[in-house]
Amino acid sequence: MYDPKSPKADEFICHDEVMDTLAYAEDNKDDVALIDRILQKAALEKGLTHREASVLLACEMPDKLEAVYDLARKIKRNHYGNRIVLFAPLYLSNYCVNSCVYCPYHRRNKHIARKKLSQDAIAREATALQDMGHKRLAIEAGEDPVNNPIEYILESIQTIYGIKHKNGAIRRVNVNIAATTVENYVKLRDADIGTYILFQETYHKESYERLHPTGPKHDYAYHTEAMDRAMRAGIDDVGLGVLFGLERYRYETAALLMHAEHLEAVFGVGPHTISMPRIKRADDIDPGAFDNGIDDDTFAKLCAVIRVAVPYTGMIISTRESRAVRERLLALGITQVSGASRTSVGGYAVPESPSDNTEQFDVSDNRTLDEVVHWLMALGYIPSFCTACYRAGRTGDRFMAMVKSRQIENCCHPNALMTLKEYLLDYADADTRSLGDLLITRELKSIPSPTVREACEKHLAAIEDGQRDFRF
Ligand code: SAM
Repeated sequence: MYDPKSPKADEFICHDEVMDTLAYAEDNKDDVALIDRILQKAALEKGLTHREASVLLACEMPDKLEAVYDLARKIKRNHYGNRIVLFAPLYLSNYCVNSCVYCPYHRRNKHIARKKLSQDAIAREATALQDMGHKRLAIEAGEDPVNNPIEYILESIQTIYGIKHKNGAIRRVNVNIAATTVENYVKLRDADIGTYILFQETYHKESYERLHPTGPKHDYAYHTEAMDRAMRAGIDDVGLGVLFGLERYRYETAALLMHAEHLEAVFGVGPHTISMPRIKRADDIDPGAFDNGIDDDTFAKLCAVIRVAVPYTGMIISTRESRAVRERLLALGITQVSGASRTSVGGYAVPESPSDNTEQFDVSDNRTLDEVVHWLMALGYIPSFCTACYRAGRTGDRFMAMVKSRQIENCCHPNALMTLKEYLLDYADADTRSLGDLLITRELKSIPSPTVREACEKHLAAIEDGQRDFRF
């Protein structure tokens, strides 16, 4: 039986409930009255249940879909303004004992080079990332208790936080490592990580077990219950994700939203972010070998439905996607993008040579960070390097309360402008800087509180004078 409060994976992601939901969605996808009621509820901007969202996802009536897109755009604007947060992944190690069928790091792959960054190499990578202008990283590693034990991850986080190069600093390290124990999550919390990110890959248990045939990741329950352990360990911000292409997207979406409902029911706070990766070509991996790939239109619809269903959850799109796809999804709900990413182990300080071959997957957006920043501004977005919330203790339910009360405009908006100003002065080329300065002047006016606006103006002047790291 579906029980969002149950600690058991099989109960909070109940297969029968997902199947019932999909059947219900199929039966009702042409029920205009029901869809209108769901749209009216969605217009309150407080979210939808997995069942309601599944009906919208199944619906194919063009006018109703247009209404979903309009709502997604509106919710995005109302909850997150025009800010887009930027980050970069840093791959620490591709040693891995698992055998994930879609991932080139799988243990049987003998033709990728195995590599693990030393602390000196990590310091060089953090310096190179700071020199690009990054302030927020997501560290990534394969699962290997011998080569990548938790102590290695903790030491790497400390190294990254410790590098202060010129005006640079990495102010938030998010962590994407394999499911682990409560004790290890406590250690990660104590190391001041930002979000703990773990993709479910697929919520369909049978497919999950087939796609992870051996290794610790084979254990569906241990993987699916990881966020419960992380939250019990005091990590407030967790990031969910599905690797789209592995299973039927409607199954995954219903289950992903059930996972969000579960976290909300048990911990009073839903996921901080949902990542939206689609499977990509990689060494030894052909995305065509997976039957459930989704085209760009379906992907856009999916993104809009998730935005409408969980208005308080940030949504992430990486450089797995092309500029064109990213551009389309930005308006429909995406709040964070990566920029200038390398999916090789290292590769920021010195680009990887072709013979090294440690990449996880091909990226489709190869632009520099400055090009990404310029592009976002030309589209009317404010690129944000803000990391203030978790540093000010606004995580978990405190962050959600801020989003829900719309205080975000007096907080995130000025923080975005100030961190953009830092970027413009320290790292941007002349074109990007002049475009950014115009944008900041214009956007200052939309800070609702006159007191905050005035303080922000003062901080911007101080940043111009060389001071750094102001925040609300
Ligand atoms: N090893 C950790 C784990 O098991 O969760 C996480 C790190 S892994 C480097 C990050 C993510 O990359 C995986 O969760 C998976 O979804 C994604 N990934 C793996 N192979 C991929 C591929 N061929 N295309 C796109 N994404 C892929």
